[in-house]
Amino acid sequence: MTALHLRGVLLPGGEPGELWVLDGLVRTEPVPGAETVADGGYVLPGLVDAHCHVGLGPDGPVGLEEAGEQARTDRDGGALLIRDCGSPIDTTLLQRQADLPRIVRAGRHLARPKRYIPALGVELDDPGLLPEAVAEQARAGDGWVKLVGDWIDREIGDIAPLWPDDVLVEAIAVAHSRGARVTAHVFGEDALPGLIGAGIDCIEHGTGLSDDVVDEMARRAVALVPTLINVETFPAIADTATRYPRYAAHMRALHARAPAIVSAALDAGVPVYVGTDAGGGIAHGRVVDEIVALRAAGMDGERALAAASWAAREWLDVPGLVDGAPADLLVVDGDPRSDPDVLRTPSMVLLRGVVVR
Ligand SMILES: [Zn+2]
Repeated sequence: MTALHLRGVLLPGGEPGELWVLDGLVRTEPVPGAETVADGGYVLPGLVDAHCHVGLGPDGPVGLEEAGEQARTDRDGGALLIRDCGSPIDTTLLQRQADLPRIVRAGRHLARPKRYIPALGVELDDPGLLPEAVAEQARAGDGWVKLVGDWIDREIGDIAPLWPDDVLVEAIAVAHSRGARVTAHVFGEDALPGLIGAGIDCIEHGTGLSDDVVDEMARRAVALVPTLINVETFPAIADTATRYPRYAAHMRALHARAPAIVSAALDAGVPVYVGTDAGGGIAHGRVVDEIVALRAAGMDGERALAAASWAAREWLDVPGLVDGAPADLLVVDGDPRSDPDVLRTPSMVLLRGVVVR
């Protein structure tokens, strides 16, 4: 394999520098005979979509081939690392395809009957079965387990938690004992204290966070993936929920508060990461849109970029542009800390040291 040489402003450091790529890996010492493929611009670790569903399309589960196309679309949007936040199909075969982004899988969603999108998750008749199901998904995934923390309960006509607090304590301990982290889908308020008190590692969406809960997340270093481009669809979800006026009003209220909640989480020091929720209602390949949305909610430009690149990689235990790291990187013409739109048209994308753009 030809050795490559890149020169530009290296992020996150922000200083002009050089790096080399040999056998798919980043090298920080000169490699003799390397071909200079980038000279100028900004070089940064490949983007991360920390909430994505490869294997899920607008009409539900898709086949492996279409799932591969979704991952390719994510890659072409700049995401070279995906935390798959629950997939109805087993995508391990996609992890062997060199042209696809790296995928960190969470196995299947854990839900209860009639308490999530049909056919996506494992539906447990008895909530007491959760610890056992968590153990199974921890085995099946790559270090993450995904719970549905709350969902509409049609009997009460509003969002409500799925799991008793004591079951959550046991289930999350089971995941941790098997080396897996746990995250949960949460739109409303009521499920949050139980999940966070039980030691969860991350909250998805988090539109129901209060100041007290935000402070507790910061204290425990629980991450938040706001998926703001998904939250933008809440009013449309409310419009279709004509049989559940309380739920519809709740969704509208959560939507209205979302930017303020992200801003409170950032102020409190909660680790916030970029995730699109691509797969169902959200198209794949939109990671840059979520960076832009987080900036609009008040996230500083450099922090928003970090949340979609080096900081997210560190959180997922995947190295950035250090010696010996996989050469998954972007080269862009302008400074993506001040103008995220430059990420939409990278001058070069390297994945596993191979030029894919
Ligand atoms: Zn999702």
